[in-house]
Amino acid sequence: MTSIKAFHQLSIDNPDVFWAEEAKLIDWHKPFTKTLDFSRPPFAKWFVGGETNLCYNAVDRHAAKRPNDRAMVFISTETDTEIVYSFAELKQEVMRMAAAMQSLGVGQGDRVLIYMPMIPEATFAMLACARIGAIHSVVFGGFASGSLATRIDDATPKLIVSADAGMRGGKAVPYKHLLDDAITLAKHKPAKVLMVDRGLDKEFQKIAGRDVDYATLRTQFMDTEVPVTWLESSEPSYILYTSGTTGKPKGVQRDTGGYAVALAASMKHIYCGGVGETMFSTSDIGWVVGHSYIVYGPLIAGMCTIMYEGTPLRPDPGIWWQIVEKYKVNVMFSAPTAARVLKKHDTAYMHKYDLSSLKHLFLAGEPLDQPTHEWIMGELKLPVIDNYWQTETGWPILAAMPGIEKTEIRFGTPSFPVYGYDLRIFREDGTVCDADEKGIVGIVPPLPPGCLSTVWGDDERFVSTYFSLFREPQVYSSFDWGIKDKDGYHYILGRTDDVINVAGHRLGTREIEEAIQGHPAIAEVAVVGVADQLKGQMPMAFAVVKDAASIATPEKRLALEKAVLKQVDDSLGAIARPSRVHFLTVLPKTRSGKLLRRSIQALAEGRDPGDLTTIEDPAALEQLQQALGFKAPS
Ligand code: ATP
Ligand code: MG
Repeated sequence: MTSIKAFHQLSIDNPDVFWAEEAKLIDWHKPFTKTLDFSRPPFAKWFVGGETNLCYNAVDRHAAKRPNDRAMVFISTETDTEIVYSFAELKQEVMRMAAAMQSLGVGQGDRVLIYMPMIPEATFAMLACARIGAIHSVVFGGFASGSLATRIDDATPKLIVSADAGMRGGKAVPYKHLLDDAITLAKHKPAKVLMVDRGLDKEFQKIAGRDVDYATLRTQFMDTEVPVTWLESSEPSYILYTSGTTGKPKGVQRDTGGYAVALAASMKHIYCGGVGETMFSTSDIGWVVGHSYIVYGPLIAGMCTIMYEGTPLRPDPGIWWQIVEKYKVNVMFSAPTAARVLKKHDTAYMHKYDLSSLKHLFLAGEPLDQPTHEWIMGELKLPVIDNYWQTETGWPILAAMPGIEKTEIRFGTPSFPVYGYDLRIFREDGTVCDADEKGIVGIVPPLPPGCLSTVWGDDERFVSTYFSLFREPQVYSSFDWGIKDKDGYHYILGRTDDVINVAGHRLGTREIEEAIQGHPAIAEVAVVGVADQLKGQMPMAFAVVKDAASIATPEKRLALEKAVLKQVDDSLGAIARPSRVHFLTVLPKTRSGKLLRRSIQALAEGRDPGDLTTIEDPAALEQLQQALGFKAPS
């Protein structure tokens, strides 16, 4: 067995040799002629000239050898449904969806926006796009019209695939009217909307000439064979938007061959999942974890994937473990928030089931605090592996890699840089930090296969956003603070920008601010994330009104607060709703006009606001403290 260190070193010293070897994990229709083309930094092209297809690697190659093996189990504790699909059945369903899309005019390079709950058709739609070379853009079902409209305008889809409703906690959450509103708001109008009618929203209205019922269309293509469209390795497979701290969300563009190889390699070296085994990722297809480790990763590895619609607590907090027992889950992937939720419930729920099939539990998406890490590892008595990555990278940057070497798991750290990433901790002047010195987590390009190839439709933004941290050297910035200790373990210390993480959902403060700013009575607003025991963080808003009369009485204040919260609900969804809206007449800003976000956040969390020497108007601080319930200055 090689060591992680030697494996990583080889990947950095000789990426061509290293990745050519990993590329054997997938099937190529035409071999590549060059492993890496890095002639135009920081743009990297992997497996140049090679032709392959994500759907072929995820479905067809397994369906050919093991047609009757399980490929996907759909479990909904919301609708009490359980459906098992074999690889042959999955292939057939994907071809039906692909044929339906083609009949609506979708072809190679066209965008298809998928706005759906966690139902099998969402997976079919993603794989169908991959099959015919269409570019999917999945938008998380929790987003409301405003966010959806921005994404429609950026991706300009020919087709939108959606459903009447999702279900959460036993209640139907209608989607259709949000979608209709989004299309009204958007400048770009998709020609067709393909609707999966689950029968959950009896009221939804079909728009004649635009909306097409999938169940009906599907019957025309029951036995249709849809051949795979072979794509050159660098051709785009999908667009996925980050949460959009900068107001306009960044459309992460993923390639085809590099992504397939990166996922196949990660399934082997990090997640330790192989042919015939089962993986259960509790994420949502709207997020990158859903793309990589509900849909593509496990299927490419020939595993059965569990697609779960429901919460971790219904019908009781044992539901996940019941699924593990029933389907002999070998690899499980979840988020630290979920672990913190489970921690609040009786551990008997966990111990009631036979979990002996489970090899590892992987957690990612936010910092995994030491106590939670220690607790869950102690209860499950198996390695719980913290892994750090981003929508942009598509697969882990930092992780323990038990498929290469079993290293000691330490609490509170996602361990080591993953092969392919030349990761360093940088000082703000571009030099590299010493051990135990805090700095910015950066990656020296080329980024490995699978990482974003550009920002959709905006090469310039790709460079200016991600590679402009220093003039020299050109480095990919993660926008996270980190530290590397003397033993080489890495710790992530939070973000260099501001994003709120509510129960695992990432919300840009900027997006919430923009929604609130849309209210006619509001002049200016700052939104910060405030630590919340259950949800991780909650947004809190500090708003300046245009006219003091609008908050002259407690009744008026309350009414305006309600109206502002509704404004957020309507444009972003209830998940983004601030816990409070405090009204002020001035916000604390620096003399250069920058909001003192960190100070606002610190005060809201009862901490020291830090250096305030640059504050423009000290009265702003007093107001803020009063609003937060500090004693008024005497
Ligand atoms: P945006 O880029 O629009 O602000 P986002 O960064 O919130 O969106 P993601 O790409 O889903 O969206 O999140 C990646 C970020 O999540 C990382 O940059 C890091 O801050 C955090 N993160 C992910 N995994 C971990 C982890 N294991 N430990 C600590 N932080 C993590
Ligand atoms: Mg980010």
